[in-house]
Amino acid sequence: MRLVLATRNEHKLRELSGIMAPHELEALPEGVRLPPETGTTFADNALGKARAAAAATGRPAVADDSGIEATALGGGPGVWSARYAGDGASDEENLAKLLSEVPEDGDRRVAYVCALAYVEPGGREEVVHGRCEGVLAREPRGSGGFGYDPAFVPDDYPDGRTMAELTPEEKDAISHRGRAARELRDRLLRVEEAERPARGPLA
Ligand code: IMP
Repeated sequence: MRLVLATRNEHKLRELSGIMAPHELEALPEGVRLPPETGTTFADNALGKARAAAAATGRPAVADDSGIEATALGGGPGVWSARYAGDGASDEENLAKLLSEVPEDGDRRVAYVCALAYVEPGGREEVVHGRCEGVLAREPRGSGGFGYDPAFVPDDYPDGRTMAELTPEEKDAISHRGRAARELRDRLLRVEEAERPARGPLA
């Protein structure tokens, strides 16, 4: 299935393209405007972007919204992760704020959360979720990934590496986006399979 990915983030296009194969992800055409992320849930924001892309292109579209939830902050910054240190804040500024707000001796549990929405023009809508649990490191380490990765130590690997110290494949295997994308990939494969015309009797 060919899908438009409703994002301007090259990193997400690369990351999701690998995981969603054999479905093919296309970049959002220039000029298509995405709505601001004003929803109070990841699903609302993902659906808003996917609906806008499907309506503008007339093709099935996919969009994600994701963020980090810190237990010590009651689940914050959550849907506000991208703007945590203010509108237009850099990844480094957002991460520095998170490290300063989560108490050194408090609960350092964190989770990455992702909602991935699929919208057909005027038709079917699906939202799947993915989650990755971990602990906030005291200091950033590693140069891979993006965003909060240098301080996110996932539970899935016992060696204490941060997300930014994993290979892209290691991250995809356990990440919130990887989990959501595999779930959506499999659901769409089942839809394609169900809609394929039944093969007639062999001649
Ligand atoms: P959005 O999904 O583009 O709105 O991004 C939400 C925020 O969560 C951004 O600040 C990202 O840096 C952060 N974020 C989402 N996914 C990841 C990830 O895989 N690693 C690090 N930060 C992430």
